[in-house]
Amino acid sequence: MKHPFRKKWGQNFLVDNNLLIKIARTINPKPDNYILEIGPGEGALTEKILPHVNEMIGIEIDPLLIEKLKMNNLMKGLNLIEGDVLLYEIEELPISNPIRVIGNIPYNITSPIIFWLIEQLDYWDDAFLMVQKEVANRLVAEASTKSYGRLTVVVGAYLNIEIMFSIPPDVFIPKPKVESAFIHLTKKSKPLINDEKYIQFNKIVSSAFNQRRKMLKNSMKSWNFSDQIIKNIDFSRRPETLSIKEFASLVE
Ligand code: SAM
Repeated sequence: MKHPFRKKWGQNFLVDNNLLIKIARTINPKPDNYILEIGPGEGALTEKILPHVNEMIGIEIDPLLIEKLKMNNLMKGLNLIEGDVLLYEIEELPISNPIRVIGNIPYNITSPIIFWLIEQLDYWDDAFLMVQKEVANRLVAEASTKSYGRLTVVVGAYLNIEIMFSIPPDVFIPKPKVESAFIHLTKKSKPLINDEKYIQFNKIVSSAFNQRRKMLKNSMKSWNFSDQIIKNIDFSRRPETLSIKEFASLVE
């Protein structure tokens, strides 16, 4: 492989064909699907999905990879956009929606990509992402465990997350330093927080977890919660013991 790998763009390419087949089977592409792939790279996963779907678009930040993809006959029919996925809105992409989102994504922008999805819930159906295993564990963590935190709670108010399988470093070139996990994101049938309360919810959860060892009555002093809320939640508890639903109930 002659590509000059760019660390800043999280370039770890999947090179194990059996694993790529397993990933494609898990995604289960259908003839009526509209697919967005984040960071197609050299197209290893793309070529396994593209022939089976209605429309597919790839957003890739690296101009060298865009050139390579354009020259690849297997990518015929793929709509390619050069740029940073986070700067696009799904609704404005030249593809019908709701889309399905897939990607072996750069690990340094995993949370921004998940929040980018949460902010556009109307325009996608489900997403399959490769993430750091440690992040996957945080996303599915139970209350009162070490991995449970702001990410678990804010994401969990909107999405269901399932870990499909774990992946060792040696199926990538170059090898990442950490284990990975392939996860499935689907939308909760009813989000626990309304759109207009999203920012307030984020702030409450952040304040709570900024001081995760403190009791809520100390860390949340500056918030004037209503009597009803104070009656329902015991503020001598620590934030990590509150379920996602209990956090949602802190939002008026
Ligand atoms: N899909 C390929 C594979 O599995 O072999 C490449 C995966 S690699 C982990 C991540 C890819 O995302 C790279 O091709 C990288 O250039 C691209 N990328 C990084 N940041 C991006 C961004 N903000 N928007 C779009 N693509 C990005």
